[in-house]
Amino acid sequence: MKKSLPIRMCIACRSKHPQNTLIRLKQVGKDVISSDGLGRNFYLCTICSKNEKKIKGLVKRFKQNEAQFTALIEMLTEKINSCDQSQYIKGVK
Ligand SMILES: [Zn+2]
Repeated sequence: MKKSLPIRMCIACRSKHPQNTLIRLKQVGKDVISSDGLGRNFYLCTICSKNEKKIKGLVKRFKQNEAQFTALIEMLTEKINSCDQSQYIKGVK
C-alpha cells in the first residue's frame, strides 16, 4: 500500500511535496524549460504556480521573459492537474 514517492522541495516556497505533484523545470543556458528528467531539475508546487507574485519573483530570479515563463508555468500546471485526476500513473513522464 505504501508507496514511497520521492519528495522534492518547491523552489518558491520551500515546502516539500511528492515529486509527481510538482512542476518539474530545468534551466538550459539562459532558458527555463519543462524538464525531461535529465540534468539539473528544480521544482515548483502548483500553489506557487498559481501565485502571480511568486511567478514574478521567479521571472526575476531566473531572468526570464515574463510572458513566456508564465505561459510555460500555466501549461505545466494544467498538465499536473489533469494527472491528479487520473491518479499517479507509473512511468508517465
Ligand atoms: Zn511552492
